Amino acid sequence: MTTIVIVDDRAINRSIFEKLALAVSQSVVVECFASPIEALEFMKSAAPDLIITDYSMPEMDGADLTREVRALKHCSDVPIVVITVFTDRSFRIRALEAGATDFLQSPVDHNEFVSRARNLLALREEQNAVKRHARFLEQELVHVEKLSKEALRDSREQLAQVIDSVPDLITTSTREGFCAFSNAAWAEFVNSTSADLVGKETYGAFDNFSRERNLRLDRKVFKTGRALPPYEIEQRNHAGDIFHFIVTKSPLHDAEGNTTHVVTTATNISDRKRAEAHLLHIAHHDALTGLPNRIMLGERIDEEIFQCRNSGRSFALHFLDLDRFKSINDALGHRTGDRLLEVLAERLLRCVDGNDLVARLGGDEFAILQTDLKSSEEALRFAQHVVSVVEEPFHISGRELQTNASVGITKFPEDGHNSEELLRCADMAMYQSKAEGGNTFHLFSTKMDKHVKETAALEAELRSAIEQDQLELFYQPQIDLSTHEIVGAEALLRWNRPGYGVVAPNVFLGAAEEVGLILPIGEWVIFSACRQAREWMDLGLQTPRIGINISPTQFRKQNVPQLIKDALVSCALPPDKLEIEITENIVLHGSEATVRDLREIREMGVAISIDDFGTGYSSLGYLSRYKVDALKIDRSFTRDMISDPNSTVIIKAIVGLGKSLDLSIVAEGVETPEQAEYLRGAGCEMAQGYLFGKPVPANEFAVLLKEWPMSFEKCNPQLALAGGEFER
Ligand code: C2E
Ligand code: MG
Ligand code: MG
Repeated sequence: MTTIVIVDDRAINRSIFEKLALAVSQSVVVECFASPIEALEFMKSAAPDLIITDYSMPEMDGADLTREVRALKHCSDVPIVVITVFTDRSFRIRALEAGATDFLQSPVDHNEFVSRARNLLALREEQNAVKRHARFLEQELVHVEKLSKEALRDSREQLAQVIDSVPDLITTSTREGFCAFSNAAWAEFVNSTSADLVGKETYGAFDNFSRERNLRLDRKVFKTGRALPPYEIEQRNHAGDIFHFIVTKSPLHDAEGNTTHVVTTATNISDRKRAEAHLLHIAHHDALTGLPNRIMLGERIDEEIFQCRNSGRSFALHFLDLDRFKSINDALGHRTGDRLLEVLAERLLRCVDGNDLVARLGGDEFAILQTDLKSSEEALRFAQHVVSVVEEPFHISGRELQTNASVGITKFPEDGHNSEELLRCADMAMYQSKAEGGNTFHLFSTKMDKHVKETAALEAELRSAIEQDQLELFYQPQIDLSTHEIVGAEALLRWNRPGYGVVAPNVFLGAAEEVGLILPIGEWVIFSACRQAREWMDLGLQTPRIGINISPTQFRKQNVPQLIKDALVSCALPPDKLEIEITENIVLHGSEATVRDLREIREMGVAISIDDFGTGYSSLGYLSRYKVDALKIDRSFTRDMISDPNSTVIIKAIVGLGKSLDLSIVAEGVETPEQAEYLRGAGCEMAQGYLFGKPVPANEFAVLLKEWPMSFEKCNPQLALAGGEFER
């Protein structure tokens, strides 16, 4: 069995590492210790095959534990891996000096943990085999001394053959640095023969640096009489190819126990290193574009933060999201989308140099780390460049495609202290660019953070608004411009938000749409409006038709006809007392199902009107295809009507269109008697606006119904006088 010792003061880490260690091989036994002292106690009587320890622990740090373990004779060469969150080299150097074999960076990458552990255990196994060889060699040497010269020669030859069969590179060196023996693998590596090497400088074929290092470490073994913990090196062979080795150096003793030679063994781990590097690459890169992924970006940002803290420099992080990429993917397929992303990755790489990093975070999201930033202007200039580079058309499989980027920029140290914070803020800034229609960039500002927090608070409160009875419908009258009767009432949503007073729908409906709350809210609106109309009828009031607004999301996600039917039935409300207001988008971009829903609603006897008419689509062809009952001219035309000839033309056109298609026309936002008069002159039948009444709570609207039109004329004597236009 193979024993792995894990030392970590945090229980969660112990349990994760234990699971990972057990995955290394089936013959692994894991011993976990929360305390380094207890771990040492255990190791006094048992030599594990691998020790994995945390660096920072309250009782004793990883370096001190390593030193104590190395002092135990039977543990002097057990591989020790130290897990450290510190990128600071000084911690690593302290652990190295204490005799650590390797490091793992926290948070630990699970693949890396398992592959490192597996490699070190395999190495340990090979090391033990070499040790057994060496012991055997030693015993044999003692034994052969007793044999006749001839037998001695035979025996030595035999031994040399055995050692030549080992794939590891083995050499023994004297105190003076001369080779006493080299096996075939070693000789081949330095392009020589075993016989030629004897008596020459052991490390003579290496470059100066490697030579000096070997001699220095040999001297250490001669001095202490102890084996060195294994260490990894890179070494070029005679042809200049680079190999990775794990090297051990152990003493050879004579009969008196004096160290006479140092045995150096080098196990070639180049294949493993390549596999490890490959795994690491996969874990840190995006498979499609080959760019670093989110994990690697996070690591690089944290490194950069560390560097900048020391040097006082700063950097910018650009978060980039493509505009309308989904539609390219949907329309032309994922392969085209993927190809576009690949080309984009190449373009972005051409925008950066030096230490800068381009990463793909997933989907159509990219990030660029702009290092060594001199000023905010530099970051803005760079973002501008990126936006213009993305804007260039893409030529993919014979097509010309176009996309844009929305970029958000954060800066260190101003906007965040770690990669998560910086990315979060860059994301918020990116949304600001999106909100402005994309193809632009924004620097993060704390205002954005405030906005996001406010929206989150709003959402949280909105969730409970229905149960807490905070929603209310206000009603606004619609007037027949010739008879001055109230012919309709639009139900408009209000939220009595605690601490904020009465909140208008534009403030919260966007958020409600985003998080899906529009569905329960919309349902509540339908039922409340029907219930209210029923109540007014029961009070004997002249109840006009009530218009309710329905959002496109409701059509997409709810069975609107069924909801309306249920509401009408449960309130016993005649369908002609109800009207729904929808936007042009619903008819234009709605699915087949939506079109069916609209027909079903109309067949029930509920009227349909198109809200904010004129602001949406320029083609009016759809009006002849889908049956609706009324058009509501958008407020902007009414507002500009007197001053802007274009608005006048549009109003006249809409009225004409209404007449030809037999649709009622309602003008919205009528605020002045001039506007009312003008509209009436232009043939518009109905109007809604502050001139006739603002949206008011249901009880006030009931009063209005009772007192109309007297109340209106009393409040607006100038209208009653305006050429008698508003008298009955
Ligand atoms: P809308 O359907 O076009 O409603 C008309 C808006 O114009 C209302 O704003 C109304 O208060 C305002 N308005 C009416 N007359 C005048 C005027 O003379 N001058 C000016 N300046 N404004 C006038 P409100 O109530 O803030 O509603 C805004 C929008 O919110 C509505 O536009 C509608 O799209 C949406 N909305 C309101 N209630 C609901 C609802 O229950 N469900 C859904 N889905 N949307 C709703
Ligand atoms: Mg409306
Ligand atoms: Mg409107």
